[in-house]
Amino acid sequence: MPSLFNKKIDSLKGIGLKSVGLYNKLKIQTVGDLLCFYPRTYEDWSNPVKITDLKAGEISVIKAKLSGPVIENKIPGGMLISKARVFDDSGFIVITFFNNKFIKTMLHENVDYFFYGKVTQNLGHFEMINPMFSAKENEVGIRPIYNQTAGLNSRQIAKAMKEALLLLPLTINEPLPDWILEKYKLCPLSYAIENIHFPRDFEALKLAKERLIFEELLTLSLGLSQLKDKNREETSLQMTTDFSEEFIKLLPFELTEAQSDAINDCINDMMNRKTPMNRLIQGDVGSGKTVVAAAACYSAVKNGWQAAFMAPTEILANQHFQSLSKILIGSGVKIELLTGSVPAKQKKQIKELLKNGEIDFIIGTHALLSDGVEFQNLGLVVTDEQHRFGVAQRAALLSKGNNPHLMVMSATPIPRTLGLIIYGDLDISVINELPPNRKEIETYLVDSSKRTRIFNFMKKHIAAGKQCYIVCPLIEESDIDAASAAVYFEELINNDFKGYNVGLLHGKCKPKEKDEVMNRFQSGEIDVLVTTTVIEVGVDVKNAVIMLIENAERYGLSQLHQLRGRIGRGDEKSYCILISDMQNEETTERLKILCSTSNGFKIADEDLRLRGPGDFFGSRQHGLPQMKIADITDMKSVLTAKEAAEDILEVSKDLSNDEFRGIRALISKLFSGVGDNAFN
Ligand code: ADP
Ligand code: MG
Repeated sequence: MPSLFNKKIDSLKGIGLKSVGLYNKLKIQTVGDLLCFYPRTYEDWSNPVKITDLKAGEISVIKAKLSGPVIENKIPGGMLISKARVFDDSGFIVITFFNNKFIKTMLHENVDYFFYGKVTQNLGHFEMINPMFSAKENEVGIRPIYNQTAGLNSRQIAKAMKEALLLLPLTINEPLPDWILEKYKLCPLSYAIENIHFPRDFEALKLAKERLIFEELLTLSLGLSQLKDKNREETSLQMTTDFSEEFIKLLPFELTEAQSDAINDCINDMMNRKTPMNRLIQGDVGSGKTVVAAAACYSAVKNGWQAAFMAPTEILANQHFQSLSKILIGSGVKIELLTGSVPAKQKKQIKELLKNGEIDFIIGTHALLSDGVEFQNLGLVVTDEQHRFGVAQRAALLSKGNNPHLMVMSATPIPRTLGLIIYGDLDISVINELPPNRKEIETYLVDSSKRTRIFNFMKKHIAAGKQCYIVCPLIEESDIDAASAAVYFEELINNDFKGYNVGLLHGKCKPKEKDEVMNRFQSGEIDVLVTTTVIEVGVDVKNAVIMLIENAERYGLSQLHQLRGRIGRGDEKSYCILISDMQNEETTERLKILCSTSNGFKIADEDLRLRGPGDFFGSRQHGLPQMKIADITDMKSVLTAKEAAEDILEVSKDLSNDEFRGIRALISKLFSGVGDNAFN
C-alpha cells in the first residue's frame, strides 16, 4: 500500500501542524507509520461484570446508572471530591473522582454508563476511584492503549488511528503470497491491521498479532539470509599450507586445548571448504580469543592473502596492534593500524599500501569500512567483540574482498534463540577454558559507607606495585557521563588519592589523549585509572588487580561481567568491588549473582530472566533492526518464521520472483536504519 503508507500524517482529519511535531516525536511521519504504531496494551471494556461479582483489587468494567446526582465536596487543602452511587440490577458501588470539576456536568442520571477501573474496598462497600467511563455502546470493545508523549495521549492517537483506518483501502496490497498465508494459517494484512488496533474480540486480536509477528520475523529472517548469502558463494581462496604452528612458536605461552581446537577449526575451514569460512569463536572474557584470531590471520598472510581485524573501539584496536606487533617482530608480516585518529596523510599512505598489497595484516576500527579502503587480496576478515557491530557492518567489510573467509569473536554469551538469528549460518567454536593459573576474581557487593576502606585496600595494592580501575557513576547520556568522570577524577586527586598517579579515560577524550593514557596505564605509570564503560571490551592490562564499580545497580549483569573481565588477567588474585546504595532486595539479589559465579553463560541467562529480552543488550547495538511487535527471544515464533523463510528461499533464493516484491519492500524498510546500506 505504498500511496497510503507514504501520505503525510497531517493529511488525516484532526491532525494539524502542532500535533505533527508530537507525532514525529513518536517516530510517526506518515499514515503508514501511524498504522504500524501498535498498541502497548489493551483495556477490555467488552465484558461488564455484575456489581455483586466485583472483587477488590481487580480491574473491571461495569454497566451501571447513577442513583442520584454527583455530590461535590471540597476538603481542607482545597481538593475537590466528586462522588456518586451507581447501580445495576445486582447491587451498587460508589464512584469517586478527585479534582475533576467537570464530572458533575458529564455524568447524568438515567443513562447507562460503562465504568472501567480498579475496584477497591472502602468501609464495607466497593468503590472505583477515578474510573474511566463511556456511555457509548460502540466504544466499549477492547480498547487500544498507545505509548503517549507529553501533549499527545493514547485517546487522541486512537482517534487518529480510526481516521487512518478509514483510509485503508478495501483491498490493500498483501505482501505475503497466498500459499504462505494458507500454509501458516495467517489472516490477511488488512484484517491484522484493523484488529491489532481495534480488535473485534480476543480471538481476532490473537490472529492479528500472530500475523504481524510472523511477518516481522519472516522479514528479519529473510533479510539476514540475503546478507549472509553474499558469503555463501564458492570461494577461490583455498588455503594450501597451514602455518599456524609457526605462529604458535612465537607465543610466550602454551595454548590451552580449547584454543588449539579453535585454531584447527579455522584452518580446516579455510583449507577444506568450497565456501568461505563462516565461524564464530565464542569464549568468555579472558579466554584468549585474540591469539586464535591472530593464528588464523598469520596463516592467511603466509598463504599470500591480506587479513583485516576489526575491533569496536580505538583503545582495543590499539592494544591488539601493539601486542600483535610485538609477537610478529621478525616474522616478516607487515602489520598496520588504521583508526579514525590516524592523521590524514598517514591514512592516505596506509590506504595506498593496502591497495597494492604491501600491508599484509591491518588492524583497525570502523575506519576499515570507509570508502577509500581497498585491498589487493583480502582473504580473511575478523571482527572482534561481534555484538558491537551490526550484521550490515560485517557484510560491508566482507564486500571489500572477493568472498573472503570470515571469523567473528564474541565474549557475550547470547541466548540460543538470538544466536539462531544473528549467527544462524555460522559454525561455532567454543573456548570453554581459561588459560592456566588464572585466579578466580573475588567479587564483593558493598554500600558507599565502605568506600574509604576500599580506597585504603587499593592503596595497599598500589604500594605493592599493582594498579586499579575505578568505573565512574554511570549516567545515561554519554556527554554527562564524561563530565561525571571528570568531576569524580578531580575529587579523587584532590582528596583520597592526592599524590598518586591517577589517569582519566572516557568516551569524550580525544583519541590522542586516549592513547596516551592507555599507554601510561599499560606501562604501569598510572596507579588508578578512573574510567567509564569505554573500558568494557577487550582491554588487557595484567597488572591491574582491583576494579571498583560505582553504582553497580545501573548496569546489566552481562555488562558488569564484561567490565570485571578487565581484571584477573594475570596470575595475581584480583578483586572486583561493586558499590551500590540501593537497598531493595531485587537489586541485591541480582548483583549477588555476580559475587557467586564467574560463568558468563550463567550470568547471561540470569540477566535475560531478570531484565527481559528488551534490556538484554542494554543500549548497545546488537546489529539487528528494531522489532515493532515481535520478540526475538520467542523461540516458537522465530522457528516458524525461519521455516517459512526456508520455504520462500527454496522458490527464489534471491527473492527476485515477482510474488516476493512485497517482501522485498518489507526487507528494505526493516533494514533501512541498520548500519550501512547493505541492501543497496
Ligand atoms: P579475550 O578472550 O577476552 O579476548 P585475550 O585474547 O585478550 O582474551 O587474552 C587475555 C590474556 O590472556 C592476554 O593477555 C593473553 O595474552 C593471555 N593469554 C591468552 N592465551 C593464553 C594462554 N594459553 N596462556 C596464558 N596466557 C594466555
Ligand atoms: Mg578480546
